[in-house]
Amino acid sequence: MITVYLAIGSNLSNPVEQAQQAIQALRQHPHIDLLACSSLYSSTPMGPQDQPDYINAVAKVQTQLSPLALLDCTQAIEQNQGRERKEERWGPRSLDLDILLYGNEIIDNERLTVPHYGMKVREFVLYPLHEIAPQLQLPDGTELATLLHHVDRNGLTIWQAQ
Ligand code: ATP
Ligand code: MG
Ligand code: MG
Repeated sequence: MITVYLAIGSNLSNPVEQAQQAIQALRQHPHIDLLACSSLYSSTPMGPQDQPDYINAVAKVQTQLSPLALLDCTQAIEQNQGRERKEERWGPRSLDLDILLYGNEIIDNERLTVPHYGMKVREFVLYPLHEIAPQLQLPDGTELATLLHHVDRNGLTIWQAQ
């Protein structure tokens, strides 16, 4: 079994419900064990500012799925919750489910980059992750707690405590 951290984000179609539905989909998945989930956080958008605030969370799961099989599952959950892929980068979306860490593996292929390329600088990933895994080390040995010192909360607040 591999321990995996997933980032959940939504800013469309009732984001709190979207996040809760995604968590429920992970909990019910036959090949995924949900071990922990952070509180729901509210964050200001990255990129285009003319869009609603986001709800974000991080989930800790265990799975025997390969990285790409897991990506198929997370993308299926996104699709199931009405995710439309648009041209605009970082535009509004009903659900974004990103693979942050897959054990200690470093993966870089056409479909998947793990650790997620943005995780070290995104407050809406680092703070929820720290809530459920304060001692975490990244595959390159970086301490999560150290990263937090360099990333401002940028308005990130707990929206619904876990
Ligand atoms: P960002 O990647 O900056 O968070 P995004 O999540 O909005 O942006 P998406 O449209 O959800 O980007 O995904 C674009 C592509 O990123 C997907 O088709 C997927 O193949 C690829 N991808 C690469 N690495 C990952 C990862 N670690 N988790 C999820 N998708 C990834
Ligand atoms: Mg993303
Ligand atoms: Mg994504």
